[in-house]
Amino acid sequence: MTPTVEYLEERFDTFNEMCFEGALPRIPIKLSDGKSFIGRLTYRPVRDWRGRVVRKEDFVLRISTRFDLPETEVEDTLIHEMIHYWIALQNLPDSSTHGKVFRAKMKEINERHGRHLSISHRSTPEELDRDKRISEHWLCVSLLADGRTALTVCAKPCAGTIQRAFRHARSIRSMSWYRSFDPWFNRFPRCRTPKLFPVDPVELQSHLNGAEKLK
Ligand SMILES: [Zn+2]
Repeated sequence: MTPTVEYLEERFDTFNEMCFEGALPRIPIKLSDGKSFIGRLTYRPVRDWRGRVVRKEDFVLRISTRFDLPETEVEDTLIHEMIHYWIALQNLPDSSTHGKVFRAKMKEINERHGRHLSISHRSTPEELDRDKRISEHWLCVSLLADGRTALTVCAKPCAGTIQRAFRHARSIRSMSWYRSFDPWFNRFPRCRTPKLFPVDPVELQSHLNGAEKLK
């Protein structure tokens, strides 16, 4: 989806109530054509005579419209930036950009609201496509009971354990295994435990064409 300002403002209000107890005053939300980020919060620090930051002003939250991302990723990006805003607004000291305070709030939101916020800014699709490292991937493609297709890129020594776990999983209707050197698979985490990543089957198929199907 490509978000509009109206959409983002509505989501901002909703997440403000849901995750921040309505503590965040509205700030300008702008669309950006930036390709180096998906979301970004900017502000101006106000310092006292000793140079210490006493508060932050002129907040602007930007969301890039350059990428066609699933709605949940747009929402997660917005919430991620809202955590930065929440910390900056209270002038909370944190150990780093995504330090202890940030992580604690992110964990709370993920657990309470079933979100998938990540610590770092997500890589943009262009950054992911730029990753051309060649390595061997052991892939499990699962057809899920709900009709979705899921991918698991396995750490090779764990492939057997993952296969046994999937065989007993009710949520999996069928699975097939592949070996591939396509750098497209670099973007997925290499799993040591059974995890399923729903993917677009058409996009996946285009990267399985050169793969070796395993028995
Ligand atoms: Zn961030």
